Amino acid sequence: MAKLIAMTNSSPWRATVLTLFPEMFPGPLGVSLAGRALAAGLWELEARDIRASATDRHRSVDDTPAGGGPGMVLRADVLAAAIDATEVGEVRPRLLMSPRGRPLTQARVVELAKGPGPLIVCGRFEGIDQRVIDARGLEEVSIGDYVLSGGEIAALALIDACVRLLPGVMGKEASGTEESFSDGLLEYPQYTRPQLFEGSPIPEILTSGDHAKVAAWRRAESEALTAARRPDLWEKAANRASGQKTPKNTTDG
Ligand code: SAM
Repeated sequence: MAKLIAMTNSSPWRATVLTLFPEMFPGPLGVSLAGRALAAGLWELEARDIRASATDRHRSVDDTPAGGGPGMVLRADVLAAAIDATEVGEVRPRLLMSPRGRPLTQARVVELAKGPGPLIVCGRFEGIDQRVIDARGLEEVSIGDYVLSGGEIAALALIDACVRLLPGVMGKEASGTEESFSDGLLEYPQYTRPQLFEGSPIPEILTSGDHAKVAAWRRAESEALTAARRPDLWEKAANRASGQKTPKNTTDG
């Protein structure tokens, strides 16, 4: 079991990951913004090996699918024991990374970052026995309409998205509030030096020093990009602007 816990007196935000490959953690979360914050004790990461809860002498965690078909399925009893061994009287979100889940959105990330931190189950094989999903109330979360070979990379993505929102992790408070999805729109294009790149200048308005005009330009660019690339988000933003109610869905961006 790989266990990475920064020692502090208070209780920082904590992600607990149940996986067959604990050595995949912290992985990319050990560097840059998330890695520095982990080392500074601003959050904690615990990667626990599901196999430690196997009971037979081969330490098996999977078996063939009931009803036939290809591949293997993670056993309900082994995973339930792993969850129960992790959570003793704790109330925290229990997530299962799954392509069948609700798509992860920035709104859900914000909620998760405000809480105590989730328990995250990483599937492997063909998936996990439905009975443990139901019995332990696992919330299935997808990171996109494609199939990964395991939940670990999805868990890393989810944790990274949460950690950067934790107090003290990002340098500038503003950097979290103006980016894509924060107001239901995609972010406007960004520019920096050099002033001229391969014959292409920075849009003049951005160097005008007129903050109101810059803000208006950015807003217009955000709206145009969102309308062109994400009609789903654009429709919601338009409904919000006209005061129309959209169906309540906490995973909506
Ligand atoms: N047979 C499953 C299906 O068709 O839904 C796919 C299983 S996949 C090979 C193995 C594991 O990878 C899943 O149990 C899940 O934990 C993880 N996974 C794969 N794609 C994912 C996605 N888009 N989002 C989140 N987790 C994913």
